Amino acid sequence: MRLVLVGAAGRMGRAVEAVALAAGDVEIAARVDERPDLSGGNGVWSAEAASVLARGDVVVEFSSPRGAREAAAACVARGAALVSGSTGLSSEDEAAMRTASRKIAVFRASNFSLGVAALRIALQAALEAVPATWDVEIVERHHRLKKDSPSGTALALADDIGKARSLPGSALRHGRQGAAGPRPAAEVGVHAVRGGSWVGDHLVLLAGEGEWLELRHVAQDRAAFAHGALAAARFVTTAGPGWYTMEDMLRAPGRAAR
Ligand code: NAD
Repeated sequence: MRLVLVGAAGRMGRAVEAVALAAGDVEIAARVDERPDLSGGNGVWSAEAASVLARGDVVVEFSSPRGAREAAAACVARGAALVSGSTGLSSEDEAAMRTASRKIAVFRASNFSLGVAALRIALQAALEAVPATWDVEIVERHHRLKKDSPSGTALALADDIGKARSLPGSALRHGRQGAAGPRPAAEVGVHAVRGGSWVGDHLVLLAGEGEWLELRHVAQDRAAFAHGALAAARFVTTAGPGWYTMEDMLRAPGRAAR
């Protein structure tokens, strides 16, 4: 499999490169980064995807909302499949990704780790098992350089909770301050902690009277996301145009993610 890697000089780009190298059957055919000066000189580098896209079978993108938009437009122009992991996309960006998926395979995940996919399944089961009166809060921790808050994964978890409980989008409560008063039942608290070098930590608290339950995933190393992104890249090379998620990959016959 030949990859075009967008955001190649970044933390995730370097993690994907390391996992691809160890995989043996994956070649990084071209690296795209708006900072090609960080390349260190190895292989093919470009400041934009369009000019190098023909070199690869699939584009893997971990860059920025603009990088995701540009990669999707370049993939549509060439009919190439896209695996996209950038977070912090606006609703317009997300809509543009959906439109692109009518012409090409687009695999989007706010979190490519298999552990977070399992956390989301476990959360569904827990929400079905406990009374709807139990309060649900999300606490996420990330490194001090993370640009978007709360994390895309925290928002995906909040979305899962909102759907399970039929809550409106306005049910999200981003932190509390001052005379916040008693906690309304129809609320999902989301708390973003930033500091140090945390790769990614998501804790969902379900609190009842006299007891609570914690479901937690900790990513210790970006390799966790990189493995999932490469599995997604393998998945989309044989998929037709459409919108694909971790759920589709986990449900696929033969479980490509294993
Ligand atoms: P980073 O800042 O270390 O790296 C991003 C790289 O992308 C930089 O080298 C930057 O120069 C490059 N870039 C930015 N915009 C670009 C553009 N328009 N064209 C070309 N290159 C561009 O960040 P990171 O920690 O590697 O994270 C990148 C993104 O991936 C973030 O949005 C982050 O939240 C997300 N992320 C997603 C997952 C997941 O599993 N989905 C996991 C970790 C990080």
